[in-house]
Amino acid sequence: MPNFANNPDRTSWLHVGKSSDFPIQNIPFGVFLTRDDIITIGTRIGDTAIDLGALHQLGYFKDIPLTDDIFLQDSLNDFIADGRKTWRLVRNRIAEIFDKNDTSLKHNTKHKEIVLFRLDEIEMQLPVHIGDYTDFYASIEHATNVGTMFRGKENALMPNWLHMPVGYHGRSSSIIPSGIPIHRPQGQTLPADSDTPIFGPSKLVDFELEMAFITTDANDLGEPIPIDEVEDYIFGLVLFNDWSARDIQKWEYVPLGPFLGKNFASTISPWIVTLDALEPFRVESPKPKKKQLPYLQYKGKKSFDINLEVAIRPKGHKETTVCKSNFKHMYWNMAQQLAHHTVNGCPVNSGDMMGSGTISGPTPDSYGSMLELTWRGENPIKMKDGSERKFINDHDTVIMRGFCKNDDVRIGFGEVSTQLLPVFKPHRKN
Ligand code: MN
Repeated sequence: MPNFANNPDRTSWLHVGKSSDFPIQNIPFGVFLTRDDIITIGTRIGDTAIDLGALHQLGYFKDIPLTDDIFLQDSLNDFIADGRKTWRLVRNRIAEIFDKNDTSLKHNTKHKEIVLFRLDEIEMQLPVHIGDYTDFYASIEHATNVGTMFRGKENALMPNWLHMPVGYHGRSSSIIPSGIPIHRPQGQTLPADSDTPIFGPSKLVDFELEMAFITTDANDLGEPIPIDEVEDYIFGLVLFNDWSARDIQKWEYVPLGPFLGKNFASTISPWIVTLDALEPFRVESPKPKKKQLPYLQYKGKKSFDINLEVAIRPKGHKETTVCKSNFKHMYWNMAQQLAHHTVNGCPVNSGDMMGSGTISGPTPDSYGSMLELTWRGENPIKMKDGSERKFINDHDTVIMRGFCKNDDVRIGFGEVSTQLLPVFKPHRKN
């Protein structure tokens, strides 16, 4: 199935700003509430949201084998389950409809009124019903930094780290889209020089700069997926902020790994950018430092050149960029992660989400968490408003952005922006 939606020469009859993340070559997928309070699956070109449910009802996808209600749903799971051939047919068709030379919709005022929305008329929802969520620990810089802080330089990487993409099963119930504020979590922490824990608000709330990929139905119970086939089961990617409470995490993580320090919230950008749209931005992964087992060996370019940045905006002030990193730094790529995840026969389903792990680069300004950027708070970051940050303060908004860019086209993810509110106060009945 050709992927001609990526044609860099195409322009749209919809307005697209020069620095837009969403040119006609992107065609991401999301779920939104319309001005009439109807939930629908849609895409976006420039700053126009497009109701794919309405487009389908009006007959614009009649040559593609789709069920009538495929886009009239509150999640993309069924569409994703239709598989790569269908994703391509639909992206290609959308590219045609919005091509500046195509007049079918361009000259139909009535249809345009039904299918096109300004961004302020819609409310983005979670794009998928996330059945299962796994988070990896796949950046060698991040694992080395954290390991150095907790165990010293000599023992920074655990003995297994260079042999497998380490991961854990997270919780999908607390994954929410950009724009919804979260509360500072409470929990058990162990004060310095004490052997007795206390209960209270986390003092060390942090972000983790990650990306997450969303899968389609991949395998049956017991069936591993070979590494040269796994990319067929990756639908696309979002920006992922894996909020973390470092003090809770430090006390609880032995011996079973992350728990309440991680599962109070993770936030994602609402538009899923397809793996197809990212094709022009493939790059080599970092060279393995140790020979990897055959099931983890791959051919070709499996990493993607995606510029990433994190900013913190104190309430009422301008934002300060605190980190610039890149998805290409990941030591273990998505193909290796999915091959490893299924090698024991664990089934992966449509709508599952796989976090990359914190994406730290090689330089101190590219570290993907406050834990590393401030080195446990030893080197606070100076903000534009004159204040300092060791970790995230109440009322701060953390914003992550990501985009790919070459001479022809810029494909971006928009942003995931989340405000941290103080500890939740229950409403008391009188
Ligand atoms: Mn994480």
